[in-house]
Amino acid sequence: MVQQVKVYSTPICPWCKKTKQFLDKNGIPYQSFDVASDKAALDEMVSSSKQLSVPVVDINGDILVGFDEEWLRQKLNLPQEEKKVEAIKTPANKCTSGTCAQMDEIKQAVAALRMSKYKCNVCGYVYDPELGDPDRGVKPGTPFDETPDDWVCPVCGSAKSKFDRIEEV
Ligand code: FE
Repeated sequence: MVQQVKVYSTPICPWCKKTKQFLDKNGIPYQSFDVASDKAALDEMVSSSKQLSVPVVDINGDILVGFDEEWLRQKLNLPQEEKKVEAIKTPANKCTSGTCAQMDEIKQAVAALRMSKYKCNVCGYVYDPELGDPDRGVKPGTPFDETPDDWVCPVCGSAKSKFDRIEEV
C-alpha cells in the first residue's frame, strides 16, 4: 500500500524541522504544507487535527500532532530503535503559542476561518456564523463546521455538502 504522507508545519518551528529531517533521513516522500502562508492547508490541518499546534503529520488519514519518532516508525513500517534518544511525545515536541512566534498569526487566521461565511451552491443562501440559524437551533456565533451534520439550507433544504466557504477579499 502506498503511503500518503503530509506534513503541516511553519518555517521556524523546530519540531517541524525534526519531523522533516526524520522523514528525509528514512527516504520517506511527503507533501509539505506551510500553514503560516497557505490558508487552504491551514484549514485542512485544523479540520483533520482539531487543533492549532504544529507539526501535524497525516499518514493515510492517521493524524499525529507533534514529533513522535516511535509513532512515525510504527506507521511507516520502519524498525523501532532499541534506544530512544529523543523524548517521546512530550508537550515540548510541538510548537504552541509560547514557542512559535507565528502561532498568534495562525490563531488569527483560524479565528477568521472559523467565522467565514458559507454559500449554498444550489440557491445562493449565505450562512453567516455571526447570525447562526436560530430558527433551527443554531446559535449566533456558531462556525459553519460546528453546525449539526443534519443541518440543511433554510431556503432550499440542501445538505451542508452543497455549501462552499466564501473567501473574504
Ligand atoms: Fe439553498
